[in-house]
Amino acid sequence: MSDLVTTQAARPACGMAKPLTIQMQAQDNVVIVANDGGLPPGTLLPGGPVLLERVPQAHKVALVDIPAGAPVVRYGVPIGYALKDIPAGSWVHERLLEMPDARGLDDLPRATARATRLPPLEGYTFEGYRNTDGSVGTRNILAITQTVQCVAGVTDFAVQRIKAELLPRFPNVDDVVALEHAYGCGVAIDAPDAAVPIRTLRNISLNPNFGGEVMVVSLGCEKLQPERLLPPGSFTIVDERQVAGVPAAPDVVCLQDSAHVGFMSMVESIMRQAETHLQRLNARRRETVPASELVVGVQCGGSDAFSGATANPAVGFCTDLLVRAGASVMFSEVTEVRDGIAQLTARATTPAVADAMIREMAWYDAYLSRGGVDRSANTTPGNKSGGLSNIVEKAMGSIVKSGSAAISNVLAPGDKLRTKGLTYAATPASDFICGTLQLAAGMNLHVFTTGRGTPYGLAAVPVIKVATRTDLARRWHDLMDVNAGTIADGDATIEEVGWELFSLMLDVASGRKKTWAEHWKLHNALVLFNPAPVT
Ligand code: CA
Repeated sequence: MSDLVTTQAARPACGMAKPLTIQMQAQDNVVIVANDGGLPPGTLLPGGPVLLERVPQAHKVALVDIPAGAPVVRYGVPIGYALKDIPAGSWVHERLLEMPDARGLDDLPRATARATRLPPLEGYTFEGYRNTDGSVGTRNILAITQTVQCVAGVTDFAVQRIKAELLPRFPNVDDVVALEHAYGCGVAIDAPDAAVPIRTLRNISLNPNFGGEVMVVSLGCEKLQPERLLPPGSFTIVDERQVAGVPAAPDVVCLQDSAHVGFMSMVESIMRQAETHLQRLNARRRETVPASELVVGVQCGGSDAFSGATANPAVGFCTDLLVRAGASVMFSEVTEVRDGIAQLTARATTPAVADAMIREMAWYDAYLSRGGVDRSANTTPGNKSGGLSNIVEKAMGSIVKSGSAAISNVLAPGDKLRTKGLTYAATPASDFICGTLQLAAGMNLHVFTTGRGTPYGLAAVPVIKVATRTDLARRWHDLMDVNAGTIADGDATIEEVGWELFSLMLDVASGRKKTWAEHWKLHNALVLFNPAPVT
């Protein structure tokens, strides 16, 4: 992928910064300006035209005259059609472009791409917590599952006391996390799409970072009863609590239980249950495991035109390293891959995998259509200020996070990942919903790229944040973990940043390093994807 990107510099005029541009593919008729603060009119671009007007950083410039109706090509594909004549040296922004229609879902190439042969990468390990179901945690956290939002206040009160009074006695436990959410009652729980939020919550409770210590706080009268959330046998416990032949059931504290007299009785009941789980979690120790035990979710948020040129290609290179090491990697965000679907179905290992991807796209097209919108509802004002004209351009930059490996598996929203290699996990692009669904899939490490800047973090897994621009990395020096802007500056290659990210992942997974989001305890809410009606 790296050979597609060229950063070019021209001789600067006296006192001016050296003009830097980035071209993604040889056939592109636009480049983006890499310089901090953009470039003024009259600037001679490297190997190209003189700027006719001021062009902000990350925004596109026409390399040649583009007549009205002709395609504007970036990433080797038409990202739009010129609404009027665009002379060479002009700023090409979204108001000059008509967006192409989405690629139809019929007649897509299915498993036609010759698989890139990726040699195995051996000998890389990290220190993780091996679970009885075979999965590996990167952190050792007590999670308290909730069946319904009604119990959130009581649970939070108990968690504050657990952290203050119990946690100091269990130094091997990293944290106590309440899995608070808005679901559980007041919802059409028998609607077909209700399966999505319910399985999401179930699978999050079973995330590898929670060590199989499932405990639940329930109200009592809610629609999502504990046995519906976690039916006996939906998970396994292999220790002294497990009676042979009897399916595992979670410990449940029910607030409406007649045994509770007063608020403190509920709180103390939650604390008593928590203590037994903390004792077991505290007895666990990290052990050396192969890098193949990583389950990495990648996503982007607050994207700009650099995302697809710096951070996402570096993540894509790292994705290939992880696949070569035998690990599991997920990329997601339906609206941000929709315009690249033909590339992805071609990269599927089998026609069945391609068909599963097409099914997820079709489901999401219909979901958006029911709401009276389409994929173009995705882009934000910040994306556009950051040079991204529309969702086509954004998607082309987003899918490079998936690297070059064959796509061997597809997950529906909320499903649990059970395979190694590269998986397309269908999720909305919303940062919080995507992160929540990747948690449900079993992610034990999260990688997040950003160009505009977001302080995003999750309580349940470490989030490594990668800045697309040096300016952002410099200003947000205590929020960004990796600066991929060095690629645009010409100071590092995509491969170098990809390797830097890979070794940081092993350090973070091992607990040797904390991410900035962990350091500051920046925890965004879990947001369940509920496509079903509420009542
Ligand atoms: Ca996102």
